[in-house]
Amino acid sequence: MPHFPEAQFLTSSWQPHQFPPDEGREVAFVGRSNAGKSSALNAISGRRDLARTSKTPGRTQLINFFDLKSGQRLVDLPGYGYAKVPAEMQRHWQHLMTSYMEKRSALVALVIVMDARRGLTEFDEQMLTWVGGRSLKTRVLLTKSDKLNRSESTRVLRDVQAVAGEAASVQLFSAVKKTGVEEARGWILAALAG
Ligand code: GDP
Repeated sequence: MPHFPEAQFLTSSWQPHQFPPDEGREVAFVGRSNAGKSSALNAISGRRDLARTSKTPGRTQLINFFDLKSGQRLVDLPGYGYAKVPAEMQRHWQHLMTSYMEKRSALVALVIVMDARRGLTEFDEQMLTWVGGRSLKTRVLLTKSDKLNRSESTRVLRDVQAVAGEAASVQLFSAVKKTGVEEARGWILAALAG
């Protein structure tokens, strides 16, 4: 039984003018590429096609919008941290991200996906500083927690929460073991409900 049974792909945007109308409520997912963002979207929505859409070649650098029920959307922001993308693509990515993150009124909450084994990257820290400044409701998912033992899990959770402070709440997550999936979904549903 899908957890977001109505979820369906809406559109992909390469330019801000292609964004769907800025109304309703959106929860956006962001993270370093390979952190496990698609797997998390998949596990939380219960819809494998959502993640597949996001992984379609050519779509990984776009903003992908998914409709839930009326006026509610999940948004998959392009992954950051590609080591070898050309400077021009980095500039485009930055423009697209800034246009969305800074101006989107429908954006009510952000989910930052991090690989629990890597902990915070520099970009993750910048993102936390930014959301802290804006008081945007934010959740950090420490993914692939199935790869850590109990004491490692406890340590990374504590360390990331210490850095996040008031800016975000933090939880362990595993798409493989389904750890924290219900918790993440509950948080998202609450954010969408307002
Ligand atoms: P994305 O680039 O952030 O969308 O990352 P993906 O969801 O494609 O995942 C990147 C890699 O990590 C893939 O090989 C996944 O199978 C793996 N992965 C994702 N989530 C988990 C998880 O919870 N546990 C484990 N062990 N591997 C995971």
